[in-house]
Amino acid sequence: DLAHGRILYLEGVNVSFDGFKAINDLSLDIAPGELRCIIGPNGAGKTTLMDIITGKTRPDSGTVYFGSTIDLLRHNEPGIASLGIGRKFQKPTVFEELTVFENLELALKTHKGVASSLFFRIDSAQSDRLAETLHTIHLAGSVARRAGDLSHGQKQWLEIGMLLMQDPKLLLLDEPVAGMTDEETARTAELFLRLKGRHSLMVVEHDMGFVRSIAQTVTVLCEGSVLAQGTLDQVQADERVIEVYLGR
Ligand code: ADP
Repeated sequence: DLAHGRILYLEGVNVSFDGFKAINDLSLDIAPGELRCIIGPNGAGKTTLMDIITGKTRPDSGTVYFGSTIDLLRHNEPGIASLGIGRKFQKPTVFEELTVFENLELALKTHKGVASSLFFRIDSAQSDRLAETLHTIHLAGSVARRAGDLSHGQKQWLEIGMLLMQDPKLLLLDEPVAGMTDEETARTAELFLRLKGRHSLMVVEHDMGFVRSIAQTVTVLCEGSVLAQGTLDQVQADERVIEVYLGR
């Protein structure tokens, strides 16, 4: 029971693309409620790591567990999403013509399945969750606004809100603050700190100021495996990490 007490557990994972090792004997684990940042140079394997967890890419070998009992390699991409793993890509994808409220409502319906959505009515528990989510994503004052009229940062928060409507156990986020203003970045940090504990988060990010403001533990990926792990100060002081970022 190696994965005991972990929300995510990877051990000895390998992925090759046409003989090129994108992921090389990668081992990594995340505790429930943890907010983990993944950093590393371009080509380090960060996107491939997310693809493995979500079932988009199947490893050649290794172990990938969700919780201590679920072998993710036995599930396909839609199956993994329904287990409670949500992913947010860099570009926001909200329904521009719908209001903030309608976007969240739609996310709730989609979660319930297409067949039941025809007769879907929000119950009071869901209504509470929707209201709470609006507050969490800083959009409580914008419920009736058309999503297309929101700022870039607000669209990103709305999309995170849509993922939250599905009550995920683990959220994977790819460069969430790219393109945000300094104020939006600071408010995103606040948002993530609210999510931590109730959800586990894996955040790939290049903005070190943002990483500093949210992360307890930072994992540095390089050439498909873990180069260093610790607090941001610890990994930034690591000779191997400096070498990778600054060149030799
Ligand atoms: P990162 O997200 O850290 O920039 P990626 O996971 O995108 O890194 O890529 C890791 C390495 O694998 C890179 O060298 C990339 O060119 C290669 N790679 C990723 N996906 C594919 C693919 N589908 N086919 C071939 N090579 C790929």
